[in-house]
Amino acid sequence: MELKLEGVSKAYPTGTRALQDVTLTIPKGMFGLLGPNGAGKSTLMRSIATLQDVDSGTMTFDGIDIRQDKDRLREVLGYLPQDFGVYPKVTAWDMLDHLAQLKGLSQRAARHEAVNALLRKTNLWEDRYRRLGSFSGGMKQRFGIAQALLGNPKLIIVDEPTAGLDPAERFRFHNLLAEISADVVVLLSTHIVSDVADLCQHMAILAQGRVILTGHPLRVIDALNGRIWKKFVSAGELEEIQKQSEVIAVRRVAGQRLVHVYAEHSPPGFEPAAADLEDVYFHALSQTARKQ
Ligand code: ADP
Repeated sequence: MELKLEGVSKAYPTGTRALQDVTLTIPKGMFGLLGPNGAGKSTLMRSIATLQDVDSGTMTFDGIDIRQDKDRLREVLGYLPQDFGVYPKVTAWDMLDHLAQLKGLSQRAARHEAVNALLRKTNLWEDRYRRLGSFSGGMKQRFGIAQALLGNPKLIIVDEPTAGLDPAERFRFHNLLAEISADVVVLLSTHIVSDVADLCQHMAILAQGRVILTGHPLRVIDALNGRIWKKFVSAGELEEIQKQSEVIAVRRVAGQRLVHVYAEHSPPGFEPAAADLEDVYFHALSQTARKQ
């Protein structure tokens, strides 16, 4: 069971080439699609979810031709869109039951059982009779996952799910995603590097509609080790360093500026740093920008 994309391209009428020859194989488990805003992630998610079509290329999932056989894909799809809206005055239980009916769960007893099981799974059981409008951001996202899981989907797409969640809510949401990804394909789109670092067995980076890197997070980090160097610097120093080296990250650590640069050998005054996924991400983006 895998999701396969080959040569997928899409241009909007405005001329924006949102996807350019995207080829990816996405196996069972959690796959992270990382990219800055405007990279084309949502366009790709909506296209796989059959909500819009691409101009060219093929997309298949578990023997289903997604572009040709939209109905069959929808039967096995769970989708949490970026802008998942809820009716604020409806309770979680009523809303999920309603969505379950729309999903085709017509048999009442079985549907109620499924709704109850999902509310327990997403830790919303105690809050099932509360109105959705009173839910926190994290609860809304967990409700979003509950509705995406209706009908036991085999392909689950979650688009930017942790934006705006506080650390505790994000942690809970991560645990939930990790739990559901055991037997299905979960495609997580995000611009938050740590979401991918914490959760995903496989990943790709998308920039300006193109795949610029794919791999296993730990392996792509390993590939950078030995070429990342760090130094605490002042603002003036930073400008000088930027002229001479590839600065890939500037972080604040305890009120000081910590610079990471990419170089084959240590620049003067720098010491070796252990690479992390942010280094991989910013290095890949800066390589792409240099090529243009
Ligand atoms: P991401 O989800 O990575 O932020 P999007 O897929 O939303 O990226 O957008 C990719 C590019 O396509 C951006 O330049 C965006 O402005 C453009 N875009 C997205 N949707 C539309 C649309 N409906 N019409 C025209 N341009 C769009």
